[in-house]
Amino acid sequence: MEKQNYQGKGNHHASYREKLAGDTVRCILCPHCCILQDGKTGICRTRENFGGELYSKSYGNPCSISVDPIEKKPLFHFFPGSEIYSIATAGCNFHCLNCQNWSISQELSSEQRRYNLSPDEVVKEALLHNTGSIAFTYTEPTVFYEYIFDIAKIARGKGVKTVMISNGYINEKPLLELCRWLNAANIDLKCFDDSIYKKLTGGRLQPVLDTLKTLKNNGVWLEITNLIIPEWSDSPEMIKSLCRWLADNGFKDTPLHFSRFFPNYRLSQLHPTPESSLVKAREIAEKAGIKYVYIGNIPDLHGENTSCPACGHRLVERDGYLVKQNDIKASQDEKNPFRKGLCRYCGEVISGVWA
Ligand code: SF4
Repeated sequence: MEKQNYQGKGNHHASYREKLAGDTVRCILCPHCCILQDGKTGICRTRENFGGELYSKSYGNPCSISVDPIEKKPLFHFFPGSEIYSIATAGCNFHCLNCQNWSISQELSSEQRRYNLSPDEVVKEALLHNTGSIAFTYTEPTVFYEYIFDIAKIARGKGVKTVMISNGYINEKPLLELCRWLNAANIDLKCFDDSIYKKLTGGRLQPVLDTLKTLKNNGVWLEITNLIIPEWSDSPEMIKSLCRWLADNGFKDTPLHFSRFFPNYRLSQLHPTPESSLVKAREIAEKAGIKYVYIGNIPDLHGENTSCPACGHRLVERDGYLVKQNDIKASQDEKNPFRKGLCRYCGEVISGVWA
């Protein structure tokens, strides 16, 4: 392929790269910092060195589009009960043994090209579907960074919110740039042990913790998911350490979603997470002072309702992804970027973006 024809058809000049000797390039978008020789693709399989230039191969070609309830992301404190236009392109910078979307996350974007949508068209589609927000989800949004960046900028201008559902494995500089346009994120904190992180995902723990702080400190509404996998991330001691770190680092008001694992992909030999492990995790988190703790993927447990941390009244009743009742009053405080809500019964501030 000639160099001048390489741009287009999903190939787009990639940001966050450094030129090395000859035609070698280092990608500095995520902490892997892949060094790519001419013709090589990074760990995420979406960024390629072509003739000494770095290209993103996933710009404008989502492989998955859907309109979902926002609770599915999960985001429970950000416009509850609303619908969100959701897109993904192929590729991921993690190779999780338990990946639920491996058929698209571990594929090449060229093999998964299904739609052809410019950033402008994505925002128009979201408006056509009458959703007030767009989610970058299913695979890893970091690896289609240039695409989400352009979408988020256009969306901001049209009053459409943008949300990233991510593993949090991104370098600080690109993340800070993105924080200017992004409204909310749910970050998957896989476990609290660096060696398990490495074996389970191929990434490291510390950059994910750094991402949590950067999002929180830069005006992006944040929720955290921790999938509890038997034999990998179910140790009460590890969950204690995770919750203690969250409490000690200013995340007591950040919703924490413990999620049930189901056997999948390369961990299909394991059993689903026992209910007791999730209940124990919730106890540990509440004891550490985390105010909003949820249990997902076990409908009978009713672990998805929101209660007031002060008076204990149930404020949001959920049935799966359905919001059946919402007793949170939106605060009229315009200065507060998150428009905190108030408990209808005692007036306690409930963190989130409610209206
Ligand atoms: S975004 Fe992809 S190419 Fe860039 S450093 Fe991360 S894994 Fe490597």
